[in-house]
Amino acid sequence: MTDAHRGATTRESCAALDALDELAPRRADFALADGLIYLDGNSLGPLTRAARERVRATLDDEWARGLVASWNTAGWMGAPTRIGDRIARLIGAQPGEVLVADTLTILLAKLVLGALDLRPDRHVVVSDAANFHSDLYMVESIVRRAGRPITVRVIDRDTLDDELDDDVALVMLTHVDFRTGEMLDLAGVTERVHACGALMLWDFAHSTGAVPLDVTAAKVDLAAGCGYKYLNGGPGAPAFLYVRSSWQGVIENPLRGWLGHARPFDFERDYEAAPGVQSFVTSSPSVLALSALDGALDAFEGVTMAAIRAKSLALTDLFIELVEQRLAGHFEVVTPRIHARRGSQVSLRHHAAYGIVQALIERGVVGDFRAPDVCRFGFTPLYLRYVDVYDAVDRLVVVVERGEYADPRFATRRAVT
Ligand SMILES: *Cc1c(COP(=O)(O)O)cnc(C)c1O
Repeated sequence: MTDAHRGATTRESCAALDALDELAPRRADFALADGLIYLDGNSLGPLTRAARERVRATLDDEWARGLVASWNTAGWMGAPTRIGDRIARLIGAQPGEVLVADTLTILLAKLVLGALDLRPDRHVVVSDAANFHSDLYMVESIVRRAGRPITVRVIDRDTLDDELDDDVALVMLTHVDFRTGEMLDLAGVTERVHACGALMLWDFAHSTGAVPLDVTAAKVDLAAGCGYKYLNGGPGAPAFLYVRSSWQGVIENPLRGWLGHARPFDFERDYEAAPGVQSFVTSSPSVLALSALDGALDAFEGVTMAAIRAKSLALTDLFIELVEQRLAGHFEVVTPRIHARRGSQVSLRHHAAYGIVQALIERGVVGDFRAPDVCRFGFTPLYLRYVDVYDAVDRLVVVVERGEYADPRFATRRAVT
């Protein structure tokens, strides 16, 4: 299956693969302009028709008509755990282990502080220097509030084994590197972290909806992920967290609020945590944003992550092969070739990466730039076609060979790259 594209280096053979592709009909679920080749679903997933309809129904039926009664009649209060259960299926979690709330950085903060309480005699949090900056800013700023001396050890993740000792309380890593697309060994790393007595917190921002995950089999303690990337939940969509059932009732939410209380509408003066993952709720659910995410998740119904993964690898293999055939020597492919170490993106290094991405956008191929020198392309099997990959490389060839990227109008960077 993953070799399905072999020999498919013509546009015609790509079209033949599309004709056989069981996921091809899913493209109709998305509100995408026909000529557009969107290779940035790893940054902001596109709108689905179901999300649009679901938000419309929330506005008109639930909010306009139902008003305050909708907290009960439309299930608004239960949405964070109900939608969490839909995401649970995508990460190999059990029902009741996933909650949708807040945003990813905030959820990581809750989980880091909660985890530190579970290892009161240890003093180190380990993370990776290549991690997303937000994750590092957050962990460095909150450990000071842990109530005891904690050091954040920011390491080269290849040396992780050397850093694991009996003073490590928690290891926090991002499973798929946002810049290079390298995927780490979920079960293997978790096992090594457990062997030193620490807890493991995974960031699934670039994994959920992109690669198969089995948090149950990998014995993951804690995880959090993004709603607006591969899950297509919309700009600033709520994030989700995973707390393994064996830790529920043990780990505490450090940001207590009324809706994480066992009986919020008894308005009791004393705090008693709600059972299960609900205890990680702080505030009122963002109902409109949750509706968009809920609708977006329909695109994953009736599809297996195995099918998504098989096509993702075929698309990324095809892209790498075409770039190497047609643009030999122009780019360094920084994403691993080995399937087991590749997420669902391909990153190409080039000194003029920003200009290349901008020139490609003008030609209808949307990727993004990650400083200092990476062109990043996300591959999303639910709406990308094999011919899109072919056409994207075709236009990349034009941009590079004509030197379009050197145009002065690409010399200044915009705020969002
Ligand atoms: C996208 C991303 C985030 C974003 O976090 P928000 O707080 O939801 O904006 C955090 N971490 C990683 C690794 C990401 O890729």
